[in-house]
Amino acid sequence: MKKTGEKRVFKRRAVAGTSRRGGRKAGIPEGLWTKCESEACGQVIFNQQLEENLRVCPACGHHFPLGARARIAALVDEGTFEECDRGLRAVDSLGFPNYADRLGVEHGRRETPEAVVCGTGSMGGVRVSLAVMDFTFLGGSMGAATGEKIARAVARAESGGRALVIVSASGGARMHEGCFSLMQMAKISGELQRLAEARLPYISVLTHPTTGGVTASFATLGDLIIAEPGAMIGFAGPRVIRETTHQELPEGFQTAEFLLERGLIDRIVSRREMRDTIARFLGYLLGGA
Ligand SMILES: [Zn+2]
Repeated sequence: MKKTGEKRVFKRRAVAGTSRRGGRKAGIPEGLWTKCESEACGQVIFNQQLEENLRVCPACGHHFPLGARARIAALVDEGTFEECDRGLRAVDSLGFPNYADRLGVEHGRRETPEAVVCGTGSMGGVRVSLAVMDFTFLGGSMGAATGEKIARAVARAESGGRALVIVSASGGARMHEGCFSLMQMAKISGELQRLAEARLPYISVLTHPTTGGVTASFATLGDLIIAEPGAMIGFAGPRVIRETTHQELPEGFQTAEFLLERGLIDRIVSRREMRDTIARFLGYLLGGA
């Protein structure tokens, strides 16, 4: 019965001229392969292989975006992550056009309805407080709920006597929330100061892209700042800077490699080595505690 129904729909569409001649090419299933985003590479990668390689191109090492859940799985010791503040979510407090609708869609299709996933987990056996941003939620923008969750993750590190690890991926402050969004920068920075006074380490991991108010606050306040290769890190984007200053920007401007040379970040670490590297540094930083 079902088969006949589908046939009918296909025929009707064909007559109405709404499907391309021949339709989808037979024998080429979609969603199995991904072409490397790096222009110099262009390698076609089997998706399963890409996932197994933590979404790093096996040919050139290009780091594709990685969602918060997959990143947490790649960072913490298996089975040790315990999520906190899962239900904390944004509200449209300013009545910003279309924001409530967009939030509704995002909240409906996500396990964690915000641009950050927070909790505690072990890295190399060391218990840490973790906050991992997710760029796929409204460009990883920092609204009031995002900021509150991150501030609580910092406070959790302090109260639990643990190290803090924050992984950033953000377009900056969330414009839909105006000043409520901007004040998160100060709130989180204040919490970080308390963590520093408690002499507990904070490792900041910058991934592509880390920009705006996130760069201008907690992302660059780490005791140790690690970036993924090729990550774009900056405040305003290159186009805005070029148009404002009327200057040509140097080659590689705002890449992790450019910033490492100039001392803004401490180290570039491949995603595949991130867990072991952070665990090693936690050992150094907490060794004398
Ligand atoms: Zn590649």
